[in-house]
Amino acid sequence: MRALVLEAAKTPFRLTTMPDPVAAPGEAVARVMACGSGLTIQHVKAGRQQIPFPRVIGHEIAGEIVEVGAGVTGLAVGDPVTVHFYLFCGHCRHCLAGLEPLCENLQGQVGKACDGGYAEYLKLPARNFVRLPEGLDYKAHPAEAAVIADALATPYKVLRRGRVRAGDFVAVFGAGGGVGIHQVMMAKWAGARVIAVDIARDKLGACRAAGAEHVVDGAEANLVEALIDLTGGRGLDVAIDYVSSGATLDSAARALGARGRLVTLGGTGLNSQIALDALRQAEKELLSSRYVSRAEIIETLEIVARGEVWPLVTEIRPMEEAEELHELVEAAKVTGRAALTIA
Ligand SMILES: [Zn+2]
Repeated sequence: MRALVLEAAKTPFRLTTMPDPVAAPGEAVARVMACGSGLTIQHVKAGRQQIPFPRVIGHEIAGEIVEVGAGVTGLAVGDPVTVHFYLFCGHCRHCLAGLEPLCENLQGQVGKACDGGYAEYLKLPARNFVRLPEGLDYKAHPAEAAVIADALATPYKVLRRGRVRAGDFVAVFGAGGGVGIHQVMMAKWAGARVIAVDIARDKLGACRAAGAEHVVDGAEANLVEALIDLTGGRGLDVAIDYVSSGATLDSAARALGARGRLVTLGGTGLNSQIALDALRQAEKELLSSRYVSRAEIIETLEIVARGEVWPLVTEIRPMEEAEELHELVEAAKVTGRAALTIA
């Protein structure tokens, strides 16, 4: 099969041929049609996150099952599928409770601990494949179908973590990013009044198009006051921080109203500090959120299949242009998501 291989961090992709994977018992193989090219995997390519090399990266996948190993049930050749990003065990107490990202026996992630979707075929434990629903035209839109399992499902899960209700004022910090803009979309879908915050002014128009009622330049000197003013003085009900720097966390916490919820995720992974005084005076809550369950992927796929939201994929390239595409991702020049078509 053709595959894009990274031999090491900070090196270009090598488009080469590798042996086709073969499904062992409990595994399945999918033919990959498209794979998302988000910042999560660019972090690996740029060396900001360490993984074993050589590696085929990529975890946002749309494809079709071509082989199932012995003992696999519930998955058949020809099934259209996407992929759960985490290599969870499926039988620990957290997996059984539908909290797969918290698996006690986590074996890493697809495209990091094992080869991922930047290749014609992908072999994984069968439980990692999630069938695409009827009504989702993955053949016409493989790139959009591919990114749902992370770029849209992650925001869907965050709505639950933050207990977002219709009419809530929800601010999204880092709203111009690949997942941030889908968070704007999903919060709007949930009936929230959405405020998009980003320092990238060129992305604020897209945030408005995605459903933001207000857009705010994150570099504004009086950011907290500006956010509170936009809520009519009551403060935010929910702040979702995809930057999660000390500065954004502090602004988000202070702009929350009574019993407001601050959800932190994304960012550089570096330690950030938050002042407790910003939270304690009004029973505000600090929450984190880590990826999604299989059920949350299924639910998000169905929302898309019903036509209620549609992923924003603005750069779709063939495998030969992977390097160029990742340069755009690194330079934050992509609005929404980028993806590769795999053939
Ligand atoms: Zn588990």
